[in-house]
Amino acid sequence: MFCRLCLPILIAALTLTGCNGTDRHIDGDREVALLAGGPVTSGAVTVTHGGVGSPPTWNEDVQTAADAALAETKATGDALAGALAGTLVLEDNPLLNAGTGANIRLDGRTIQMDAAVMTSDGEFAAVAVIEHVSHPILVARAVMDTPHRMLAGDGATRFAHVMGFADVTPRCEQSEAKYRQRISNLLRGDVEGGYATFDWRRAWNFPGPPPSLPGDMTAGPNLDDGLRSMDPTDTVGTVVRAADGSFAVTLSTGGTSITLDGRVGDVPIYGCGCFAGPAGAVACTGFGEEIIRTAMARSIYVMLEDGLSAREAVRRGVASFPGDWSLGLIAVDGNGWGVAATHEMAYGAAGVD
Ligand code: ASP
Repeated sequence: MFCRLCLPILIAALTLTGCNGTDRHIDGDREVALLAGGPVTSGAVTVTHGGVGSPPTWNEDVQTAADAALAETKATGDALAGALAGTLVLEDNPLLNAGTGANIRLDGRTIQMDAAVMTSDGEFAAVAVIEHVSHPILVARAVMDTPHRMLAGDGATRFAHVMGFADVTPRCEQSEAKYRQRISNLLRGDVEGGYATFDWRRAWNFPGPPPSLPGDMTAGPNLDDGLRSMDPTDTVGTVVRAADGSFAVTLSTGGTSITLDGRVGDVPIYGCGCFAGPAGAVACTGFGEEIIRTAMARSIYVMLEDGLSAREAVRRGVASFPGDWSLGLIAVDGNGWGVAATHEMAYGAAGVD
């Protein structure tokens, strides 16, 4: 017989541990909109994503990156070289929120990007809020050759330029169309999440004044070519297993679009946006603030270390993600690969047949 006090405690304990002894965080019950993957026990494998929310019609573009990553991995035998090759292709695609297509921030001028690289021997390097480069992922790779793990802001940008990366503002028609739509919605108060209630005008920290609503914005943007209106994400990432069983991950983003100056997401934060080790490699996409709070990439990696398949680990990660926040995950391990997301997500996989 349980006393009235004991029963709630018992129920809470069962809820937290689950009937099969798994942790609730790891074994949630949220609907998983996309699940793919399976066993591949030998040879090189590469998986890429175009950001959670990116439509399946972009699969072909994102597959091209997985193919490039595989070709480079096979040619060099080097997982990091392969992971860089995949993300470089994605950074060059104006549809995607990284490099060329990186989101324009609230002031309509600023483009601030984050990127990170990690390898299975524990090497990690990142750049945060970097500006005026078209390939942040290569700058993150260059940081790996310094005594530091991360460079941020103006220092990261100046480092890139002294290291020979071209001084370019990666702005394109597609990112401008997305900006017009988002700012127009924000100014009309048509936003969800934190900015629905946040007094962003009071916190405005960009050098110029806040935007107003000019006539050409009320007319609505031209969002053809498959661009969708309010997708806040579309970060890009590549995970690689080389034939020798080593792993690497690369991740690059223009960040979420509606942010204050200097906002940093999950991508460059150790253990959050990406992780690699001897058991595999993981890359995330989605609502960065929540990915940080759950240290998502490292959480998935621990499941791989514990022997869960990549497919099952990413499924559990997505099923456990709190609230309505979006999350996409890709992973490779010694035995296979996995892709899962809370919403549709363009992805590619190569070396998996
Ligand atoms: N996770 C990224 C960020 O919060 C956004 C994305 O995945 O698209 O910066």
